[in-house]
Amino acid sequence: MNNRYDVVIAGAGPAGGQCARDLAARGYDVVVLETESEDEFPRQSNKSTAGTFPSMMASFGVPDDVVMQYTDSVVLESPTDHYVREQPGAVLEFADFKRFLVEDSRADGAEYRFDARVTAPIMENGEIVGVRYNGDEEVYGDIVIDATGPAAPLAKKLGVVDLKRENHAIGIEYEFEGIDIDRPGFADLNDAMMLRLDHELAPGGYSWIFHTGEDTAKVGLCYIQNGGHKQYARDDFAIDDYLTHWLETDPRFRNATPLEGKQHRGSAHIQLPEKMHTDRFMAIGDTVPTVDPLWGEGINKCMQSGRAAAATADSCLKHGNLEPTAENLEVYDTLWHRDVAPNQRKRLLMTQMLYLAPNERYDKLMADLRRLDDDTLASANRGSIPAILSLLEPSDIPMLAQFAKERFSLDWFR
Ligand SMILES: Cc1cc2nc3c(=O)[nH]c(=O)nc-3n(C[C@H](O)[C@H](O)[C@H](O)COP(=O)(O)OP(=O)(O)OC[C@H]3O[C@@H](n4cnc5c(N)ncnc54)[C@H](O)[C@@H]3O)c2cc1C
Repeated sequence: MNNRYDVVIAGAGPAGGQCARDLAARGYDVVVLETESEDEFPRQSNKSTAGTFPSMMASFGVPDDVVMQYTDSVVLESPTDHYVREQPGAVLEFADFKRFLVEDSRADGAEYRFDARVTAPIMENGEIVGVRYNGDEEVYGDIVIDATGPAAPLAKKLGVVDLKRENHAIGIEYEFEGIDIDRPGFADLNDAMMLRLDHELAPGGYSWIFHTGEDTAKVGLCYIQNGGHKQYARDDFAIDDYLTHWLETDPRFRNATPLEGKQHRGSAHIQLPEKMHTDRFMAIGDTVPTVDPLWGEGINKCMQSGRAAAATADSCLKHGNLEPTAENLEVYDTLWHRDVAPNQRKRLLMTQMLYLAPNERYDKLMADLRRLDDDTLASANRGSIPAILSLLEPSDIPMLAQFAKERFSLDWFR
């Protein structure tokens, strides 16, 4: 077995799979090590609701056959109101999508080793030259990339990332049939991705229903286990209890039954990365982490980070004499901040503020969203301060004061 590659990637998620696709298409020798076995892949890592948008599908050439349902709108729900925005999207079958990334990069020559659990970097003269997996097996590369999501075994050991416990977001989801998709009194969720702000169901986070056709949908919730969550959480509830509570109390689920084997759970860290590379090494996707903090859109962002790392590796490897030193890989961090997640700091602040707000404010927010024009909303979504201020009002002052207190005392997201 070949044991030397141009690039070694740990993890076959959206980030690692896309990075391998780009590198293999450019003719590099690339190997991806994936901890799960191939016959069941992905099982444990089949975690995502996989709602995405046409820009991602087009820029990465994702085929229609991994789409479960094309959607026409995004719906925001509060405890007693909702806001509908026309916006085309797609809910992917995440497992098919992951397998597509593997097959497509293989067609261009990428190699995959399944049942390969990466544990540690192999170091020489203070630089990573390869990785150790499954105990004592080794593989070597000019550049090594950690794309293992929150596991981050290489990035942590190299001191590149410091994923903090208090920034840990957890999510759980079931697929159901028999859902009342267009229930009187609620928004019509046919061909919609719905996100619900309601602390009774997802304290300090949000819950969702993503329509997957006829009377079926993906139903889940997530929250960051910090300030906003602690303020609104029930002592006796774990995340599964919140989902059960929603299923028992929302009439749309009265006749719903879970689809066998269609349960997903996972996590990500919601924090601002400091650096993402060192000599001969880059960390991509949710190892960094890269997921959008506000609404959890991670697939597009993580694939973009994989592409930025592939472009950076290409710029070193194509000139045989440009060593992939930390200095020469710095461009990856620049691309990440410029193209992948340009407003990450502002979006983290918006996230913190949004999930601190009380339920009554969410009801009012729906009316505010209807009041504002599309340009202002798009600016607010990008983190524009004047646009965000147009969404705030005097009664928000106590919440803003609490936000400021928590922000400066806990130094969240660092
Ligand atoms: C419940 C939930 C719902 C979500 N919904 C959406 C959504 O609707 N839309 C959206 O865009 N994003 C969504 N996301 C976010 C999105 O799924 C992630 O941001 C994205 O999957 C991260 O991609 P990644 O490649 O960085 O990491 P991962 O997807 O975590 O992939 C990492 C891969 O590395 C492998 N691995 C782990 N450890 C090792 C090891 N030691 N050695 C070798 N391999 C290893 C894993 O098996 C996995 O295959 C959701 C996330 C969750 C948890």
